[in-house]
Amino acid sequence: MKRIALLGATGSIGRQAIEIVEAHPGLELCAAASGSSPLDDVDAPLKQVGGDLTELLERAQPDVVLNAVVGFAGIHATLWALERGIDLALANKESLVAGGELALAARARGGGRLLPVDSEHSALFQLLEGRGPDQVHSLVITGSGGPFRGRSREELSDVTVEQALAHPTWRMGPKITVDSATLANKGLELIEAHFLFSIPYDRIEVVLQPTSIVHSLIRLRDGATLAHLGHPDMRVPISYALTYPERAETPLAPLDFASLTLQFSAPATGTFPLLALAREAGEKGGTYPCVFNAANEVAVAAFLAGRLPFLAIADAVADALEHSDGASARDVEELLEADAAARRLVEQGLSVA
Ligand code: NAD
Ligand code: MG
Repeated sequence: MKRIALLGATGSIGRQAIEIVEAHPGLELCAAASGSSPLDDVDAPLKQVGGDLTELLERAQPDVVLNAVVGFAGIHATLWALERGIDLALANKESLVAGGELALAARARGGGRLLPVDSEHSALFQLLEGRGPDQVHSLVITGSGGPFRGRSREELSDVTVEQALAHPTWRMGPKITVDSATLANKGLELIEAHFLFSIPYDRIEVVLQPTSIVHSLIRLRDGATLAHLGHPDMRVPISYALTYPERAETPLAPLDFASLTLQFSAPATGTFPLLALAREAGEKGGTYPCVFNAANEVAVAAFLAGRLPFLAIADAVADALEHSDGASARDVEELLEADAAARRLVEQGLSVA
């Protein structure tokens, strides 16, 4: 029996994870946590709403931590699991983006597994498994392009929250849905892939595939390209991470190739500057990815609250990156400081505007 601590149990990933755990006799929840929503309908021996997630994890002593918290708030749980060599099924990409260097150092000390839940990274993990880095030419991360693919900047100036939340292929929590509309999500995923697979940024490409059937690809040294295909349904990567190295059945129908057409295009980086900003932040390293993430979290929350126009999300992130020195965080305290400083900067901009 694998005992799973589910953090973010009331969210989009959390709900789907509960479905997977309930359908699998080899999996059980030993703990569940949420930020503020009640957990009354969640069946777990230990439950916690708000508070310190690592306290819950200490009590639960799980075999796997499924971190499905949204945002940088997931950092402590990520580091807790990696430091102890406890399997980490990671949906909370923000913690790895912001704290990548600390997370990798913790994983090296702990010696446990870091199993990506993000669909593209689950795909890449499966494509790369058993392959030496010398075989791999480059990674190709796919994205749908979000609800505003094909629009010009002018057409984005007055988009509403409701329009940004209408994702064409995935049903997700509000923060990641806005990130998908701005392409910040692909930017976060670019940095996430860099840390997960130790591949330099100039060998990670982002390409749009509007129906989200191709979840990512790898190009190999000899010219072969391998792709991972499937329905856009997070239950598959969740199930894979929770049952790894085995695979369990899921209720999904097989893909019907006779009715599929696959199209690819380049992302419009001029219209969606957050992707290029993320790449730049990733390449510069240090706490630039942390600043990118923190500024984006605050700006997205402000957009969702009606306090900031859609296009100003990218401006706020660019401004925060410009005003940061990006100095590496030697420990988690320094990382928390970099995160807090970037948040303050964006908040100040919001209160002036
Ligand atoms: P969501 O908003 O639906 O749910 C977030 C969950 O986190 C909720 O249970 C909430 O209570 C909890 N939470 C928030 N702050 C917390 C805190 N401080 N402490 C404890 N719990 C807290 O979000 P989601 O869409 O499920 O996304 C969760 C994570 O998974 C994000 O990092 C997202 O980028 C990633 N992800 C989601 C999807 C998806 O399909 N939803 C796909 C890929 C990656
Ligand atoms: Mg993804």
